[in-house]
Order: sequence, then structure tokens, then C-alpha cells
Amino acid sequence: MTAYADFHRRSIEDRDGFWGEQAQLIDWHKPFDQVCDYSNPPFARWFAGGETNLCHNAVDRHLATRADQNALIFVSTETNTEKAYSYRELHAEVQRMAAIYQSLGVRKGDRVLIYMPMIAEAAFAMLACVRIGAIHSVVFGGFASHSLASRIDDAQPTVIVSADAGMRGGKSVPYKHLLDEAINLARHKPAKVLMVNRGLADFARVEGRDVDYATLREQNLDAVVPCEWVESTHPSYILYTSGTTGKPKGVQRDTAGYTVALAASMKHIYLGNPGETYFSTSDIGWVVGHSYIIYGPLINGMATIMYEGLPIRPDAGIWWSLVEKYKVTVMFSAPTAARVLKKQDPAFLTKYDLSSLKALFLAGEPLDEPTATWIGGALNKPIIDNYWQTETGWPIMAICNGVEKAPTKFGSPGKAVYGYDVKLIDETTGEEITEANKKGVIAVNGPLPPGCLQTVWGDDKRYVSTYWSSIHNKVMYSTFDWGVKDEDGYFFILGRTDDVINVAGHRLGTREIEESISSHPNVAEVAVVGVADQLKGQVAVAFAVLKDPSKVAGPDDAKALEAEIMKVVDGQLGAVARPASVRFVSVLPKTRSGKVLRRAIQAVCEGRDAGDLTTMEDPAALAQIKDLVS
Ligand code: AMP
Repeated sequence: MTAYADFHRRSIEDRDGFWGEQAQLIDWHKPFDQVCDYSNPPFARWFAGGETNLCHNAVDRHLATRADQNALIFVSTETNTEKAYSYRELHAEVQRMAAIYQSLGVRKGDRVLIYMPMIAEAAFAMLACVRIGAIHSVVFGGFASHSLASRIDDAQPTVIVSADAGMRGGKSVPYKHLLDEAINLARHKPAKVLMVNRGLADFARVEGRDVDYATLREQNLDAVVPCEWVESTHPSYILYTSGTTGKPKGVQRDTAGYTVALAASMKHIYLGNPGETYFSTSDIGWVVGHSYIIYGPLINGMATIMYEGLPIRPDAGIWWSLVEKYKVTVMFSAPTAARVLKKQDPAFLTKYDLSSLKALFLAGEPLDEPTATWIGGALNKPIIDNYWQTETGWPIMAICNGVEKAPTKFGSPGKAVYGYDVKLIDETTGEEITEANKKGVIAVNGPLPPGCLQTVWGDDKRYVSTYWSSIHNKVMYSTFDWGVKDEDGYFFILGRTDDVINVAGHRLGTREIEESISSHPNVAEVAVVGVADQLKGQVAVAFAVLKDPSKVAGPDDAKALEAEIMKVVDGQLGAVARPASVRFVSVLPKTRSGKVLRRAIQAVCEGRDAGDLTTMEDPAALAQIKDLVS
């Protein structure tokens, strides 16, 4: 047995011994009584009885040894700002933010919704929440008012932190009017809105509700706000993710399990050492941003780079110039970013001294072989794919080079990570597939390891019914991904089993987009599918049936209506969810029982065989789509 196989085996067979050891990587205020309380499956209570604090582990505990070391390096190529905060400075800023929260009435367990661009204040806002035991819910800045409103209603925040605007490609992207609109739409109203004013866009202020961050910060410069010790299982945050229904699910994370899982992953997977610099190019609105821009690197005593801007502006050398300047040792990005760079002159990638960099980790979507080969060759560094989900918070599959060096295989995110008892399951029988290279649903035996979702916020039933009830005859966690495993234990991911699509590493539910398109007055019915795309991995393509087709007499009308529909999606969900095209059809392909055949539509769009269509209601419907896309 290899050293890694043994490590993994022990993490499953001697679960408590294994994680009890990993738990020593963090600070505890009160030791736990039990490593894993799994008396009420599938709900796991990791490190039950213990007390700790995420902010203490990310910030305060480093003050004794690395107060003057960089902690957070904020770089914006949009506003030409670069500012490094040492651990001491970060500690002070977080306490100021925490004091502001307290003055606004935020208490332990209250929610704070953060709707912000990639600026340092967003990091302060997150850390300050967990410092006082408040629960943050970061909403990606690219989402618009409807998406935001549904999250406000679900999380019911006491306070919302926002900013006047983000910037993208040199243009300001105003936030405040979207936020005001969202609060108007939402049933729940926050008591206060804390505004960071960057001076990028004018905005209206609501008397008595909106308060100014800079003013309050001035009043709290010397704030001392100790960390609130919370129970291990106290929720640290909620992060919404798309599923198969229009209503996003609030992934709820605990405190201690998450802290331990991230600390261990830095050691075993990412090979980041304290004092070094970690650069993740994600956004705080996504899970990678939570785990590997903010918490993971800081828990590990590293400096972390928070970057606002595009990978190719001012030119495609920008990220690599930061690697040189800050001696980045670990970098984390998404395959889409690599594909964007691939269109640029590769000379930009070698213009800088990259000797500090140990590896580039890519995750969030399938990594295709040409992209992996290209970027690996251009950088002359190992490219390490890893597979995980918002729900898990850290990798399910990876190469754990920190345990034992192992080769990568093209197209594979590696082996099951320690702590995850991953199985491939036959969809129809529910039996485990043990044969190599045979396709199955990727599922995990409970308990999920520390750091994974505790439940769906406010909806334990939905947690069980969504994640633990779809495998035939078994109570197992389903990833809703297809996969195969080869003879050496390497997995290959073959796409989703549900209606979730992945656009440029961003997960979107086709149902959400369909609901938005359906709100257009002339749309009777719509199907949205994910179609393979060279740059973004997948794009959303919509097929709509109109209530009044006479309004679309020719191609110009169709173009105008398509633009109108895209505007509806932009306004409600955000440009991130905008379909690449909207086509109009007289009927959607459905089964005789009325189910839209999304997979058949997708296959036709991708020029593949549409599969078994014996249950199809009207074969002409698919032919119509074939004609439109060919
Ligand atoms: P998210 O929750 O947004 O991180 O999306 C998770 C989904 O993205 C997974 O269920 C997969 O479908 C996909 N995904 C994430 N990482 C990878 C990867 N390395 N290879 C293939 N698919 C991935």
C-alpha cells in the first residue's frame, strides 16, 4: 500500500484518531469532547463540545510570531491601487469593522449579507463577522436584484455591507441601485446598510438605514473587540448555490470543522507554508474565494493576494508580475482563466521570474487536456487539477502531494481526498461499481469530513432530501456528478447528473434562468441547456415558445426580442446568467408525460446523438431545434 493509500484508509477506518490529530493544527479555546458525533446521520457534528473562533485562527493567533508580515495584499488593476496589510493592520481593521457591526446591533448568530466587489473591506467584513460569532453570507457581486432578493429573504440579515461600485475592464459597475431594488423586492428588510464609498459611482442614500463605513471607521479607530469563542458547530457562514430548483440553497458551514479542514488542506494538498504568499484568482462570492482567498491562507499564516481586475489587463503578464513581486508559492485559478490566457502571447507568462511558484492549482470545472498542456508548458510548472463543490468547501479529489508525491493524469483531478469515502454508484441499481473505467454517480458515504456543509440553512429536510436521498436504496451524499475511476484510483469527472451547468467555472441552475426568462410577457415556455463552449466550458442556450409568435415576424424581430430577454436576465440574475443565445420555437421537445427533454436538446446543440427518444411526444420539436442550430 502506498503512503497515501494508507493515509486515506486511516482517515476512514480510524476517523476519530485521524481528525483528532489534524485538529491540532488549529487553536482551541476549549478542547472538544468528541471528534465526530454522528449519532443523527446524515448530520455530523465535528469536534462536538469544543470552542474556537475562525477569526482568531486566521488572524489573532499569528500576531505573536508574524504581526509585521503581510497578511492581505489588495491589488486592483481597475483603480490602480495596491495596499498590503500586515497581520497587525488586518487585526486592527477587522476589530474596527467588528465594532461597527456591534454599534449597528449585530449580535452572535445574526446574519450579515456582504454584497461587495473584490476590495479589502470585503475581507474585513467577513473576518469581522466570524470574530463576533455573526454569520456572513457573501453574495457574488455579479448577481442582480432578483438573485440578491431571494438570498436576503432566506438569510434575513440584520445588516448588509455593500459598496457604491465594482470595476471591470475599466468601467464602473454600480451596485447600490441593484441592492436598493433587491431590498424593495425582498420581504425581509435589513435594519442597516453599511456602505463603503469608493467614489466610483453616485448613489442614493436611504435616511436612517444607510450608514457610511469611512465615518464609522474613524469613530472606531482604536476599537478592541475580542474574539467571541463559539461552539465548534456554530455556523460561520452561509453561501448560496444553484441547484435544480429556482430557489438557491444556503450551504451552511460550521466553525471548527471548517477551520481544521482548511488548515489540513494547506498542508496536504496545496503545500503552502506559513510566511509564503498564496494567490487565488477567484472571487469572494464563490466558495474558492471563501476557502482559498480568505480563510485557508490566513489560517496557515500566509499572505494572501486579493485581486480586482481582469487576467489580461493591462496585459496578460499581470498575474505573473504579482507572482514575481510577492514571491507567490501557491496559485489557484480556474480552467477558464487559463483558456483566456491561451489566446494571448505566451511570452507574457515567461516574462517574469516565477521561480517561487511551486504549482498552479485549477478547479471549478473540467480541465481539458489542451489547456492543461498549454499552461503547464508555458509556465513550466506543475498544473494540479482538483475537484470539489460549494457544498464541500475543500477538495473531494486532488493529488495530496503533501502526503506523498504522485503523478497527475491528464483529465483527472486525482484520487479521493482523505476523509472522503468516495464511491461510484450504478444509477439504476444503487450498487457500488468496483470495475475500473465504468461510469457511475460520484457519491460519498457519511459522515462527510470536517468542513463540508452542515445542512441547508433553515431547512434540514431539504438537506436530507436533496443530498442524501437520491442514491437508490442507500443513504449516501450525492455530488450529482458522473465519474469513472481507473485502475490506479484516479477519477475522471464526466459532467452533472442534474440540470446544473457550469459557465466559466460559475455554477448556474438552468431552472433559475428559465424562471427569469419566463417572466418576459411574451414567453410561454422555455428550456435552458448548457452547451459546450471552447472558452467558457459551457454556455447557457435558451429555446423559448412565445405566447404571441406573430410579434416575431422576421429575423430582426427575433434579434430584438432576444436582446430584450437577455436584458431581463441581466436585470434579475446578473450578466453571469445571461444565455449566449435565445432561439424561438413553436414547441419544446417533451416526453409523453410532459417532461422537457433537456438532455436531448443539449445533445442536438452539441451535434451529438440525442439518445433514446422513444418516449418523445412530438419528434418534430427536436427537428426544429436541429435546424436552428445547424
Ligand atoms: P461549485 O459548487 O460552483 O464549485 O461547482 C461544483 C461543480 O463544478 C461540481 O459538482 C462539478 O460539476 C464541477 N467541478 C468542480 N471542479 C471540477 C473539476 N476539477 N473537474 C470537473 N468538474 C469540476
